[in-house]
Amino acid sequence: MNRVLSGMRPTGPLHIGHYLGALGNWVRLQEEYECFYFVADWHALSTMYDESGTLAEYTEEIVKDWLSVGLDPGRSTLFLQSAILEHSELLVLLSMITPLSWLERVPSYKEVRQQMAHKDLATYGFLGYPLLQTADIIIYRANYVPVGIDQLPHLELAREIVRRFNFMYTGNEEGGVFPEPKELLTEAPRVPGTDGRKMSKSYENAIYLKDSSESVWEKLRPMVTDPARVRRTDPGDPEKCPVYELHVFFTPDDRKEGVAHGCRTAGIGCIDCKKVLFEELERVLEPLREKRAELERQPDLVKQILSEGSDRARNEAERTMSDVRDSVKLYRN
Ligand code: SF4
Repeated sequence: MNRVLSGMRPTGPLHIGHYLGALGNWVRLQEEYECFYFVADWHALSTMYDESGTLAEYTEEIVKDWLSVGLDPGRSTLFLQSAILEHSELLVLLSMITPLSWLERVPSYKEVRQQMAHKDLATYGFLGYPLLQTADIIIYRANYVPVGIDQLPHLELAREIVRRFNFMYTGNEEGGVFPEPKELLTEAPRVPGTDGRKMSKSYENAIYLKDSSESVWEKLRPMVTDPARVRRTDPGDPEKCPVYELHVFFTPDDRKEGVAHGCRTAGIGCIDCKKVLFEELERVLEPLREKRAELERQPDLVKQILSEGSDRARNEAERTMSDVRDSVKLYRN
């Protein structure tokens, strides 16, 4: 069975944008692949190095979110990056053979530094994070990595490094220690937040998977709509409305068409429309809350799942590192 690897930074609880994008995809991939999913806490530190106090709490939060949407620790290996020290050993070895120019030309290096100009990212860790990603992937000899188009350069870098390592230490560019990881192209849809911008924790416009019913409605009620609907009697255009964008994801076709017709003819008001969306969202979120409440009743369960998953991951990583040390011809006792 082909192996898939993917990780998520523990930077906060997960919202419905994550559910419709990466997370929903992860759940589906479990059907076809042997999946390794990890909490990327070292990666979070590459930009949040001065906010590390939240990492432990957010690690627990996102694993609860993972379990509530259906990631199954019986089928997939769920683990913590910083619990597998072999990632850092491989990173050191890869850093010896990776030209600096390869890292400096990764597009996200400049882009993220510009987006986060308020933060000093002129650090060794930030420049090297695509190399740590490479180590994360190849240490499990993953065949596939689910990525969006914007992350393709990272995967191309990983393949270049694999070819360089294999050729340098085994004389065989294609069949050495590491297989070349391939992409599983998965475009995350744009999911609007309550202010119409892309849903994001940093914009404070997100509906979280763990939000209570009351909280979901409090967020939906004032959500921005088509600005043309100033009065209840003004017709609107669903195509210009972020509320309708959410209907597209959550509301069955017949009900969605009824809402669109009601909007265009001013047959329904925006609050009626949001009530429909609320009901449909609740159909998805309520089972997640129930699962989460079950997890809350077993306070040690997340720790136990991560610990067992990390043991499994470590075994795999250790096997790879043994081959790596042999290939590099390090002295062995
Ligand atoms: S009726 Fe619904 S789709 Fe139309 S503007 Fe109001 S919230 Fe948006």
